[in-house]
Amino acid sequence: MSDAFSTGTRIVRKDAAAAADRLSADICIVGAGISGVTAALEAAKLGRKVILVDSQPALGGQAVNSIIATFCGLFSNGTHGYQFTHGIADDMLDWLQRQDQAVYYRHGPNTTVVYYDEVALGRWVEESILAAGITVVLGAILDTVEMEGRRIRSAAFMTRYGRIEVEATGWVDSSGDAALAWEAGLECREPDRNGVFGTQMVVLENINEAAQPTRDQLAARMKEVGDTYGLRRREGLGFTIPGRGIAAMNMTHVETPLEPVAASAAALDGKDQAMRVVDFLRKEFADCFGQSRVRSFGLPGIRQTRWIKGTHHLTVEEIRAGTRFEDSIGRTAWPIELHDHGDGHHWILFDKDHVHYIPLGSLTPEGCDNLVAAGRCIDADSAALSSVRVMGPCMAMGMAAAHALDLAGTGSVHQIDMSEMRRRVADNVEREHYRWDEAELASVVTAS
Ligand SMILES: Cc1cc2nc3c(=O)[nH]c(=O)nc-3n(C[C@H](O)[C@H](O)[C@H](O)COP(=O)(O)OP(=O)(O)OC[C@H]3O[C@@H](n4cnc5c(N)ncnc54)[C@H](O)[C@@H]3O)c2cc1C
Repeated sequence: MSDAFSTGTRIVRKDAAAAADRLSADICIVGAGISGVTAALEAAKLGRKVILVDSQPALGGQAVNSIIATFCGLFSNGTHGYQFTHGIADDMLDWLQRQDQAVYYRHGPNTTVVYYDEVALGRWVEESILAAGITVVLGAILDTVEMEGRRIRSAAFMTRYGRIEVEATGWVDSSGDAALAWEAGLECREPDRNGVFGTQMVVLENINEAAQPTRDQLAARMKEVGDTYGLRRREGLGFTIPGRGIAAMNMTHVETPLEPVAASAAALDGKDQAMRVVDFLRKEFADCFGQSRVRSFGLPGIRQTRWIKGTHHLTVEEIRAGTRFEDSIGRTAWPIELHDHGDGHHWILFDKDHVHYIPLGSLTPEGCDNLVAAGRCIDADSAALSSVRVMGPCMAMGMAAAHALDLAGTGSVHQIDMSEMRRRVADNVEREHYRWDEAELASVVTAS
């Protein structure tokens, strides 16, 4: 090794008059969770120049960084239902299937849920975004939005390395909190009474998979001795990809206020709750968790905070009735999963043939021509949103957002060619494709 090393330095000082860095694109997406990533990849496939911005220093939003651990709402009901969302979702599932122990299909009694390894999912996101030539700006928090009539002209973000301004023809609000619509001064929705609780996920390693308690056993014991451990939530569940000795535990309920000091306190409270859960699991289910260690914590998991006011307010009645809209862009059959009380949540299942739909109108804010929302901040009542915000339909919404903006171009997302839009998203609204081969489906039919 050479001992000739550099000792040179230079004196620098911030130029107070220096302008912010500027970027421009056809489509700018704010929020790189599963809905924003899907929107970005779809927009790039359509040949659009895309900028993807996120306040975290990493891509993947909650799917990766909060360690959500499963994709729900991707399959119709029944043990081996057909797939609801295609396109980017197919690319992702195929990619994960090629990795060792990165994905596992759990064919439960109600539906198929896809368990995934969050590190592998993170790599899929990063590789796909890089390969698509998308410009990424990480660690960038939305600061101000400049409107020109009914259009967003530009947005400014603050990063640890200074301010950056983005100009774009079309915008996607996949921030989860409707941050873009809010900063643009558009009308937004918040729950008028009980908010919805988030969850601090905790991943345990060195568990004995053979001795895993069921969801009912966990709940029964949490109700019985929860006070002793200071547990707030009295039910929960764990996700395990078989053979790895790791479980992602979803067993806390944490408030998610839209106020910085309260949100920070809630984040610390979440970790505290999670450690109480770990203590409970180690002692009460020692055969399974007695030797377990905390491997990681997710970032605070946030379910529902603030969302846009669209041209359609999706209601729980429409969900229950399976209303199919002229402008449907996605579907699911996931239960109503409303975490609106600290110790538990509402869980309302649908029957085997049930399907409910998401209209484009719930993604398009009334007062803006070049903004489309996707993911957990679309317009719905709290109960309806609790079903359609799971990650399967989030991917369908991301795809639809990209197509709506592509079709709108410099025009309005409220006046796109709907027959062309329907053609483009038909697979996510109509197709009944089974991911399972004939033999597997036959054995399910024989067994049931
Ligand atoms: C604990 C928990 C468990 C869940 N379990 C499941 C499950 O098992 N299966 C399932 O399918 N779904 C589950 N869900 C629901 C699902 O995970 C979310 O609804 C979904 O991930 C939302 O994706 P998104 O892309 O809309 O938003 P997010 O993943 O929240 O992404 C939003 C992104 O926007 C960025 N952002 C926010 N504000 C700003 C800003 N001002 N400036 C810049 N960037 C910003 C954030 O950093 C974030 O990365 C769960 C949710 C939680 C919280």
